[in-house]
Amino acid sequence: TLGLAWALDWVARSAATVAENRIALIELDRAIGDGDHGENLDRGYSAVAGRLEQADPQTAGDVLKSLATTLMSTVGGAAGPLYGTAFLRGAKVATEDLDAAGVAALLEAGVEGVTARGKAEEGEKTMVDAWLPAARAARAAAEAGQSAVQALQAAAEAARAGAEATEPMVATKGRASYLGERSRGHRDPGAQSSALLLTAAAEAAE
Ligand code: ADP
Ligand code: MG
Ligand code: MG
Repeated sequence: TLGLAWALDWVARSAATVAENRIALIELDRAIGDGDHGENLDRGYSAVAGRLEQADPQTAGDVLKSLATTLMSTVGGAAGPLYGTAFLRGAKVATEDLDAAGVAALLEAGVEGVTARGKAEEGEKTMVDAWLPAARAARAAAEAGQSAVQALQAAAEAARAGAEATEPMVATKGRASYLGERSRGHRDPGAQSSALLLTAAAEAAE
């Protein structure tokens, strides 16, 4: 079942993939932003393990809440509050035995947090372009009677495709929007990190 152990493993795998992709995320952000996205996220996820040890979470919701508050206080920039809000919303709907519909609800809550905070719509070249297709894919998997693991796998695949699909987009939200047309041809760093985090979620469930 997907509960506390899964959430803890998701966070651990997220920290590892963020550390591994730190430079790549910095390079993506250097092309259309200020070059700090990999550093920001790595700082946040490096702090999470210690915070979790102190918080001694008893449920998946506790883990996501601790993750959210840690990211909010350590990541900074645009992404810190956005990820923080996403995981805080997710924490509120997380259960100890997520089925596919529960996975979909978790991702929908997350994307609602991102859009409530950042007001971006799909196609504006932001992390929404990874999260929204992911939530949609999880909901479709649930409606097709698939398992929670399959829903997470479908979500991760959709997030990766969504991140890739930001390449031809022109940014109209966030720092990259200052570049206008010149933002075209580069992948959005936040969409890419979102795809990495959702891939970690699926791998933690397998
Ligand atoms: P900053 O731009 O402040 O340096 P980061 O580099 O950490 O912050 O994060 C940049 C990422 O944040 C972008 O690649 C984009 O995905 C995301 N982002 C920025 N503004 C928004 C927004 N309004 N809504 C959704 N995501 C956004
Ligand atoms: Mg940046
Ligand atoms: Mg910055």
